[in-house]
Amino acid sequence: RCGYVAIVGRPNVGKSTLLNRILGQKLSITSRKPQTTRHQILGIKTEDDLQVIYVDTPGLHKDQGKALNRYMNKAASDALRDVDLVIFLVDRTAWTDEDELVLQKISRVRCPVVLAVNKVDQLKDKTELLPHLEVLTAKMDFAEIVPLSAKSGRNVDRLEAIVAAQ
Ligand code: GDP
Ligand code: MG
Repeated sequence: RCGYVAIVGRPNVGKSTLLNRILGQKLSITSRKPQTTRHQILGIKTEDDLQVIYVDTPGLHKDQGKALNRYMNKAASDALRDVDLVIFLVDRTAWTDEDELVLQKISRVRCPVVLAVNKVDQLKDKTELLPHLEVLTAKMDFAEIVPLSAKSGRNVDRLEAIVAAQ
């Protein structure tokens, strides 16, 4: 079996960190600075009976006036063609206009969309997440919702199990 999974989300949400965590290596550049990932980064994880191809996409940018932004938006859109699964990565805090932009993009895909809520290591209290999750679940019909930390690795195995089960 072979699967093609796109990791999408606004700039700085942790897409490259997640890909590196899944692959167990520093394949994709991560940075506090947005726009570090400018191209599509592919990572392939091979297990006994499953090969998953992950695409780390550049974040989508609102300002279409800049050539670099247009280029990155195109790379992100291209990654959504022919995918088997989309991992939509959002932050543990508020929903932003940039998240909305990503949501609009992925609302057109026909494959399942898994919502991954990242950076939960920054939560003081797990219950802080609940009102945010309520807002998120109303946005779209997600196949699954996984709170996780790409940085610490917490719950990333659960996300991978979901990917493997699709
Ligand atoms: P991308 O633009 O979506 O690819 O985001 P990056 O993977 O480059 O990460 C952006 C910033 O968020 C970096 O400083 C990461 O170290 C940080 N980051 C990513 N995931 C987590 C996480 O789970 N917890 C915390 N605390 N920081 C994270
Ligand atoms: Mg990146």
